[in-house]
Amino acid sequence: MLTTFQLMLMENQGKKMLEWAKNLIRKTAEKMGLKEEVIERLIEPEMVLEFSIPLKLEGGRRLKIVKGWRVQHNSALGPYKGGIRFHPQTTKEEVMALATLMTIKCAVAGLPYGGGKGGVAIDPKTLSEFELEQLSRKYVKKIAYFIGEDIDIPAPDVNTNSQVMAWMIDEYQKIKGKKSPGTFTGKPVSMGGSLGRTEATGRGGVIILKALLEKLKIKTSQLTIAVQGFGNVGYYFAKIAAEEGFKVVAVSDSKGGILKLNPKSEARNSKQYQTSYFLPLNIPLVMECKKQKGTLAGCYCVAGVCDIEGGRTITNEELLALPVDILVPAALENVINEENMKNIKAKIIVEMANGPVTEEAYEHLTKKGVIIVPDVLANAGGVTVSYLEWVQNKAGYYWSEEEVNEKLKVIMKRAFEVIWKKSVEKKIPLKQAAFEVAIERIVEAMVI
Ligand code: NAD
Repeated sequence: MLTTFQLMLMENQGKKMLEWAKNLIRKTAEKMGLKEEVIERLIEPEMVLEFSIPLKLEGGRRLKIVKGWRVQHNSALGPYKGGIRFHPQTTKEEVMALATLMTIKCAVAGLPYGGGKGGVAIDPKTLSEFELEQLSRKYVKKIAYFIGEDIDIPAPDVNTNSQVMAWMIDEYQKIKGKKSPGTFTGKPVSMGGSLGRTEATGRGGVIILKALLEKLKIKTSQLTIAVQGFGNVGYYFAKIAAEEGFKVVAVSDSKGGILKLNPKSEARNSKQYQTSYFLPLNIPLVMECKKQKGTLAGCYCVAGVCDIEGGRTITNEELLALPVDILVPAALENVINEENMKNIKAKIIVEMANGPVTEEAYEHLTKKGVIIVPDVLANAGGVTVSYLEWVQNKAGYYWSEEEVNEKLKVIMKRAFEVIWKKSVEKKIPLKQAAFEVAIERIVEAMVI
């Protein structure tokens, strides 16, 4: 049970994120000379659904009441699009902020979608499989009359995956009495999901990072990367980056992380790290160890033997402060903030999570010359392949994984080029350029 203080803290985190998203839109729109009524329409969500879900827990037959939301932010460019997260710290404000970012993200990627988001304030790790299925189905019962393949299209997000989408779409189709595969994306391939969707967000992030390095004329090989978060996004980002020649030297999850050090380096017994001390991790072996041992901290497999002493165990705060070239927050929002921003040493931050850098930290790091690749561009690969899944569902015609990956690359590179050009021409950071490009596109499509 969360204390009142914890609840207040969570609410404040969500409020902070929402305020920043609104400020970014307002500041950009004012600079563009847009009228107040247009700015308000860009900021205010079109619909906020708030409801409670009674969950029957197994064993004691106890009823647990959990809060849920679906926010439909803006539909100027097309149906609302956005994931559903199950997380104990999810609040209405957080879902509203994430829905706002989805509106911007879909416009940045040039997709025919508006922005939406859903969430339930619950820790799904405390639920049995039966309870999780019940939660997924009951959530859909609450929103079924507000979604549809041309209205609002949910997808997975934190702690929801293709299995959750399978339960949700099954429930939705029962309610509607017809097949409607295009109403949810991120489904299992057997139910009309797209090949390449699982890896898409991580893959898209690596495409954007490589495009940036090409513009900066920096060679990929030997650049060191630390990735916070080893779920869907973090794992595939780390794996694909390593395949592309980057040195992924540290990864972490909610319980801590692993750093690979050269056994001969002086750093074995010190925490004064230097880039030259680091060795690349074998990412699939780290995942294998996590699966076997149930932990990531220090976990490594060598020659089939998995060992939790195989690499140095580090905390999440230590990971963020490592002297790596590229830092990739791929877990949750607000992790780089006022308290730790002065410890950050990386020159490039790729925002793979949504809103991982707070407003204060963003201002501080940008002034210091750190390049921050904004979430609305860096992690748009997921919604892009969701779009490709939806197109395949509507056409009833399915592409190979190579075809999907190729289309993803084309869309991501196109999005990057437009934002890079604006950033260079106007001498503004990438985040500001991304918001400007998105707002131009949304306003053009808005019926005023
Ligand atoms: P996930 O649930 O698969 O993984 C989340 C990971 O973060 C887990 O490894 C978890 O242990 C770790 N984590 C949680 N709290 C942490 C903490 N305090 N410190 C360090 N690690 C912590 O979720 P995901 O789908 O990988 O999403 C991660 C982020 O990416 C979220 O911000 C999400 O909104 C964003 N995102 C996801 C997608 C997608 O397609 N899944 C698309 C765009 C953006």
